[in-house]
Amino acid sequence: MNHGTSRREFLGALAAFSLLPLEQERPDLILYNGNILTVNDQEPRAQAVAIARDRFLAVGSSAEVLNLASVATKKIDLGGKTVTPGFIDAHSHPAEAGLMHLRMVDCDLRSISGIQAALRERARKTPPGEWVLGFKYDDTKTEEGRPLTVADLDAAVPDHPVHIEHRGGHTTYSNSLAFRKAGIDEKTPDPPGGKIDRDPSTGKPAGRVAESANGYFEKAIPQTFTRDDHREGVKLISKMMVRTGITSATEAQGTPTDLRAYQDARESGELLHRAYSFINFHYLDAMIAAGNRTGLGDEWVRVGAVKLVCDGSISERTARLSAPYEGRANDYGILVMTEEELYTHGRKAHLAGWQIGTHANGDVAIDTTLRVYERLHRESPRRDPRFRLEHCTVVNDDLIARIKALGVIPTPFSTYVYYHGEKMRYYGAERLNHMFALRSFIDAGIRPTQASDYPPGEFIPMMALQSEVTRTDMKGNVWGPKQKISVEEAIRVGTLNGAYASYEENIKGSIEVGKLADLVVLGRDPLKENPSTLVNIPVERTMAGGRWTFES
Ligand SMILES: [Zn+2]
Repeated sequence: MNHGTSRREFLGALAAFSLLPLEQERPDLILYNGNILTVNDQEPRAQAVAIARDRFLAVGSSAEVLNLASVATKKIDLGGKTVTPGFIDAHSHPAEAGLMHLRMVDCDLRSISGIQAALRERARKTPPGEWVLGFKYDDTKTEEGRPLTVADLDAAVPDHPVHIEHRGGHTTYSNSLAFRKAGIDEKTPDPPGGKIDRDPSTGKPAGRVAESANGYFEKAIPQTFTRDDHREGVKLISKMMVRTGITSATEAQGTPTDLRAYQDARESGELLHRAYSFINFHYLDAMIAAGNRTGLGDEWVRVGAVKLVCDGSISERTARLSAPYEGRANDYGILVMTEEELYTHGRKAHLAGWQIGTHANGDVAIDTTLRVYERLHRESPRRDPRFRLEHCTVVNDDLIARIKALGVIPTPFSTYVYYHGEKMRYYGAERLNHMFALRSFIDAGIRPTQASDYPPGEFIPMMALQSEVTRTDMKGNVWGPKQKISVEEAIRVGTLNGAYASYEENIKGSIEVGKLADLVVLGRDPLKENPSTLVNIPVERTMAGGRWTFES
């Protein structure tokens, strides 16, 4: 008999009983005297955690856990403060948002005149002829009560091409010089899946273009970001996110450049949150040819799903609906990809072992996407494909049953009811009871996630909690009260469910022995807070992998 083998067998048996690793590890850090909401059904509450390197070594009462300390262990008294697992933003656009914050004019302002002033100011510092770019413009949030026009932008900045992205990311607003540079005039037809708004008398561009028509500008605007800029963008947004309690975020429309930026930021020590980076379907062939698929990477930077897009957006009212928008009898929104296109790209990804995440907001888009997923599953069944419906906003009982049957993951907007309340009237009170349908998803046994879609939505997890629990906007209007969930449910949606959506529920999403030490220390207990002030709960500290990424 081989002594080595028998020793390993003996130690293996011992480990199974004691739940301790083979080598008795001492904690580097103990947090004790806390109110720890673990999101672990076996042990929902704890007072203390011990952390060794980047993982939880023990979870339990303060006495039990402090007992594990060595002389080298650092101990922090939480003073009764509440701790939750780190929050996971399951759908946002951090890399792109970081670049925008670096370079573009933040147009999240409350008047057109304010936006004009900000653009004029930027133009003064920009060499003539060069582009002045803006982002986070929201036509529903300016006091003039009307959208930006080409005349507004010409009046503000005549000598630079101006191009502004709507907060929703699917429509843009430009001045006359920008339209000239993009080669768009009264004779330019609307491209398939896109729209150029026009002056009814002259046919000239009126300022706004939607969906695929943005391609004209993407070609015309020089891409001047360096590799360092991309890394800087990730660094900037990562700092912004961890302040709010986020420890992981899904990059929902990633490119190979974004992947590189995340890896660069990670190597330079500037990546503070974990990234699950989707890959835009345009890069799918190249990724497959390189032998890549979902899951490649590690717990800091990982290749996510392939991203497909079926319809328009909720915040810009272009989502494809079965019944028209309120007060706009013939407006059902836009489909941007046909079912056959979705199937062709989806099949390629599915056969190569990729997870698929398809942007589908309206009920028509969700139905179409589910039909594609059902067909892929029927034709080529795969173990645990975890198909995702990005946003999955407007649902009905039939769609929910099909989502459950196929184990699909919805990632509804978490902060929209609270933050974008003024847009809800376009959908109507009745339809709102079937939108961002967390109550229906949870009751059906589906695992929805927390998702900001930043920049379109705010990424603050405490705002997500308030929005999901109260279904009330900033002015006190209630939208879709049937979909309210409890604070405890909202925390699980924002943590463990997010981990499941990226196949990482065994390494994060709850405070459990062996999982990554990702957590948030809150100033107040969300379970005891008045639901209408959840958004005001301060985040005191954020930790990822045993390291503080934010301390207030
Ligand atoms: Zn998105």
